Amino acid sequence: MRAVHVSSPEPLIAGSLATWECRIVLRGAPVEGGGCVKIAYDLRGESGYNAFPQATDPAAANFASVTGPDGVELALEGYRSHHNRPPDDSGRQLGDTESYDWRDLLGIYSSLNLHVLAIRIMSGRLEAGDELRATFGDTSGGSPGMTVPGQAKPDWRHWVCVERAAGAPLELLGGDTVIVHPGPPERLVVVAPSIVAPEEEVPVAHVALDACGNPVRRVRVQFPAAAGEADDSPMDGANPLDRIRIEDQRLGLSGQSNPIEVVEEPRYRLFWGEIHGHTCLSDGGQRTPDQFYHWGRDTALLDFAAIADHDFGIALYDPEKHWQMVLDAARDFNESGRFVTLPGWEISHAGEAAGQRYGHKNVYFLDDDPPFFTSSTYGGGRASVDYTHIEELVELLERVRVSFMLVDHTSHMQTDWERFVPEYTRLVEVYSLFGCSEAKDVPVPTGAGRIPEQCTARAGLDRGRMVGFTAGTDSHMGAPAAWRETSFGHGKVPGLTAVWATELTRHAIFDALWHRRTYATRGERILLHTAVNGRMMGEEVLLPQPEAPRRVAIAVASTAPLERIDLIHNGATLASWDGGGNWEFAVEYEHTEPMAGLAAEPDLGYYYARVFQDGGGMAWSSPTWVIRPC
Ligand SMILES: [Zn+2]
Ligand SMILES: [Zn+2]
Repeated sequence: MRAVHVSSPEPLIAGSLATWECRIVLRGAPVEGGGCVKIAYDLRGESGYNAFPQATDPAAANFASVTGPDGVELALEGYRSHHNRPPDDSGRQLGDTESYDWRDLLGIYSSLNLHVLAIRIMSGRLEAGDELRATFGDTSGGSPGMTVPGQAKPDWRHWVCVERAAGAPLELLGGDTVIVHPGPPERLVVVAPSIVAPEEEVPVAHVALDACGNPVRRVRVQFPAAAGEADDSPMDGANPLDRIRIEDQRLGLSGQSNPIEVVEEPRYRLFWGEIHGHTCLSDGGQRTPDQFYHWGRDTALLDFAAIADHDFGIALYDPEKHWQMVLDAARDFNESGRFVTLPGWEISHAGEAAGQRYGHKNVYFLDDDPPFFTSSTYGGGRASVDYTHIEELVELLERVRVSFMLVDHTSHMQTDWERFVPEYTRLVEVYSLFGCSEAKDVPVPTGAGRIPEQCTARAGLDRGRMVGFTAGTDSHMGAPAAWRETSFGHGKVPGLTAVWATELTRHAIFDALWHRRTYATRGERILLHTAVNGRMMGEEVLLPQPEAPRRVAIAVASTAPLERIDLIHNGATLASWDGGGNWEFAVEYEHTEPMAGLAAEPDLGYYYARVFQDGGGMAWSSPTWVIRPC
């Protein structure tokens, strides 16, 4: 007989109300009165899940019960043990002590998000061989059941620990897993290449998702050349556009692809990626680096992805082993023409001391085998520190001669544009699950509007920082660009980064990011072209004379009816157009006033486009910079 056995009378469906049972057979010394048996279940990647087991109302949701041997009085209590400090949602104060006890016992990397059902021995004692049966979602008193986590997984783990007397150390008794199945399919995501050449076959993939965003079915099909079949609503006055509608008759669902532009001998293709995701190596994450890339390639249908785990998480306990996991996954999944990965990490807690803060920055590498350096003392001294200041990290990386790039992520309200590293910072994140951090005049600002003006991406541009734009998720569920984010529980949509690259190789993607041929979206694969005097997003224009006019071209093909298109110039909206509910938009705008430079850089100016479509979709082009001749 196993010490721990978890089972359910019906299959557990993600996000549903259900019942499951944990049977425990005690071993070893007795558990005395005042002692405790704790069932902890793994909710890493599910920090928005707040269904604690309760033992007070048998008719309410999440009712839990327990049976044990005769003569032993038991009491139940549900709470959270989390890598983050207390108080948790149930109001209970938990010190780091218990979370580190769990972490040390279970060996689950840096992150910890357990919900715990504590079975306290009020009177009597439990002997070896005694059996406890805990029922989660006991419906016998009218309860509708207990909420199942939103992530489908083949191995939802429960652990059982004992404290053999009041205050005794936590001891691991055993564990078991149960399957969480996806729910019925509700949504069909259809993805096609954004740019194709005439006569090219068009690979189209579709993924059916359940209500929680779990994949139910994935299909890839090949379509004949789009040329000739494209409708006649050319974008940019030139190229035909198409969108492919797919009906999955087996599932009874249909979906429409992103816009596809047919381009004769395209100079660049458009590739879609997410370069700001976390795995089990960061706080709260569950999936491994391998599972992260698997999701990115096969469920999110991305062309490229990068893990940006916190340096403090990688550095906890065993940095060498963890960094190797990141490198191995990046190397194993990197496949030219199919899916590109970039090794990297997030510099998160550097310079935490007052007056030293410079904000979170992600570092990405071209090489397969770059070194890892950490800046954080997070984790009660379990992590080591190699440097404190960003300038020191740059020196360390320069010394080992690796190709790297820095991306500021402005969502954490700490970006200090004075602590900018001009040689290596090429991009800034304008959107993540935390919200928009482009500027203050955005519909879903980061941190409920708390981002200080001087920390936004636009504040950086206004200081003359020449950074292009990315968007990502900052997801901690190990699922890049997941359509529905559960790890923060705030229902925001993911961000995506589009890059104009010559081909789908790591070198070409890195090159495109480095040269800022990027734009950011709130998840939708909106097609967006911008140019100033013929120079595309990310590029620079040297004006022939100080008064020379700037001709700005913007062309959009959307994935929903267009609401508005803004042209932003030097810190303000220069022009705005009503999208009129159309699915395509193109404009040429001549800016004839002599250019007033930026206050911080009088000979520099920038232009970028911002697109709004129905349903909250947005896109931001990287700026094109204009340099006035002296
Ligand atoms: Zn961060
Ligand atoms: Zn992050």
